[in-house]
Amino acid sequence: MSEQNPETIYDVVIIGGGPAGSTAGIYTARANLSTLILDKGLTTGALGITSKIANFPGIPGEIAGADLLRTIRQQAESFGVKYVNDKTIGADLSSDPKLVFGNFGVYSARAVVIATGSLGRSNLIKGEAELLGRGVSYCAVCDAAFFKQAVVAVAGKSDEAVEEALYLSRFASKVYLFCPAPELLAPAELVREMRANPKIELLTSATLREIYGKDRVEGVRYVQRGSETEQDLPLNGVFVYLQGGVPITDFLQGQLETSPSGCLMVDREFQTQTPGVFAIGDVLCQHIKQAVIAASDGAIAGIAVEKYLRGRSDMGVDWK
Ligand SMILES: Cc1cc2nc3c(=O)[nH]c(=O)nc-3n(C[C@H](O)[C@H](O)[C@H](O)COP(=O)(O)OP(=O)(O)OC[C@H]3O[C@@H](n4cnc5c(N)ncnc54)[C@H](O)[C@@H]3O)c2cc1C
Repeated sequence: MSEQNPETIYDVVIIGGGPAGSTAGIYTARANLSTLILDKGLTTGALGITSKIANFPGIPGEIAGADLLRTIRQQAESFGVKYVNDKTIGADLSSDPKLVFGNFGVYSARAVVIATGSLGRSNLIKGEAELLGRGVSYCAVCDAAFFKQAVVAVAGKSDEAVEEALYLSRFASKVYLFCPAPELLAPAELVREMRANPKIELLTSATLREIYGKDRVEGVRYVQRGSETEQDLPLNGVFVYLQGGVPITDFLQGQLETSPSGCLMVDREFQTQTPGVFAIGDVLCQHIKQAVIAASDGAIAGIAVEKYLRGRSDMGVDWK
C-alpha cells in the first residue's frame, strides 16, 4: 500500500513491473530520472507466472519466472526505482502533469510508460457481465465496504487474488478463495497469512462456471478438478482476478490508439501518439513474446523517455 505525497511529481511513472517495465525503470533511474513503478503483484504477469525459464541471457540453468523478476526488480531498486504495489484503474494522459489513478492513490508524472502485458481477459464467466456492479467486482478496495458481514468469493490464483481476499476479510463475514490451479501462485508469506485468517476458505482446483442472481449476485456454481458435478454456493459478491490472453489496457478507457485486436500502437521509440506516453512489452502484441524482447523494449523506451524529458534530439546511450 502506498502513502503518496500528492505534491510529488515523478519524472516517469511506469505501469507494470514485468521485464519490460522494470528494464525501462533501470534505464530511467540510471539517467537520474525519478521513477515510480506501479505493479499489482509479482505473480500476476506473464514472467511472474512462468514456472521455469531457461533462455534469459546471463542466467544459466532454469529459474522460476517470479525469481528472475524479483532479481530484475532488485536491480532496478538499486538504481533508485521505487515500486508501489498498486493496481492502476484509470489515467488522465492529457493533463499536465499526467495522472495515474490506482486503488490506493493518485500518481503524477511528466512521462508515463505502459507495460501491463497481455494477460487480460476476454472470456467471462457465465453471468459475470450481467451482474457486474451488482455483486460482481474487480476491485476490493473500491467495493469491499459494500459487503460488510456478507459472504463473498474471490476467483484467482495470483498474489493479487490473495491480497484482495485478505482485504475483503476485513469487511465480509466469509471469503471463499476459488483457485483454478492445484496451488496458489503467490509468495509463501502471503499464503501463510491467508491460511491463518479464519474468515478465508481456500478451494483449490476449483473453477467458477456461473455467477447467478436475479437483480444481484445470489450465488455461484463451480466444479472441482476430477469431477464434472457442479456445486452450488449461495453468496453475495464475487471478485474476479483471473488471467486471459489479451492486452491489458482497460484502465486507459480509449485514450490511446489500439489495433483492432486491442494492442497499443507506438513509433520506433515506443512512444504512443500522445507525447510523453510510451508503451512496451507484451501489451504491444509483439509477434514473438519473450522476456528478453520485453526487456529490450524497456531499454529503448527508457532512453526515449530521457530524450523526451530533457529535450534531446538523439537517442544517446549511457555507456557507464
Ligand atoms: C506460461 C508462459 C511461459 C513463458 N515462457 C517464457 C520463456 O521460457 N522465455 C521467455 O523469454 N519468455 C517466456 N514467456 C513470455 C514472457 O514471459 C513475456 O513475453 C514477458 O513476461 C512480457 O513482459 P511484460 O513486462 O511485457 O509483461 P508481463 O511479464 O506480463 O508483466 C506485466 C506486469 O504488469 C502488471 N500489471 C498488469 N496490469 C496492471 C495494472 N492495471 N496495474 C498495475 N500493474 C499491472 C502485472 O502485475 C505484471 O507484473 C512466457 C509466458 C508465459 C505466459
